[in-house]
Amino acid sequence: MPCESCAVQFSVFKRKRVCYECERYYCSGCLRRGGGAMCAPCRVLATRPLSRSSIAHLKVRDLQCFLQRQNVSTRGCVEKDELLSLCVSHVNSAAYRRRGARSASGAFTLKGFTSNINEQTFALYKYVA
Ligand SMILES: [Zn+2]
Ligand SMILES: [Zn+2]
Repeated sequence: MPCESCAVQFSVFKRKRVCYECERYYCSGCLRRGGGAMCAPCRVLATRPLSRSSIAHLKVRDLQCFLQRQNVSTRGCVEKDELLSLCVSHVNSAAYRRRGARSASGAFTLKGFTSNINEQTFALYKYVA
């Protein structure tokens, strides 16, 4: 399995390093120590608020990988444009910020919880109107 970024084959001279965010493999040249061993695409995707222009140069694969980690389905997304929109709208949505503050194990409960709240709020609005 070669480096995600420059596709070099790993060897004694090109050590394999793993990005702690996406857990993909990079060579020591592409993933440097210091500042956390996060790869370039992950660093860009970790900026908040996320802007479309800042992720426009990322590879389709990086975007798909990111969305999959967030449990966002990329089915039906053919164009890179669609993936970009999906990333930006997901990251900047309130749901993502709430989930990010919690541990990964709480994600499922939180999902149900959030949709319950939405339903209640909706019912409340109807009541008020
Ligand atoms: Zn590399
Ligand atoms: Zn990464």
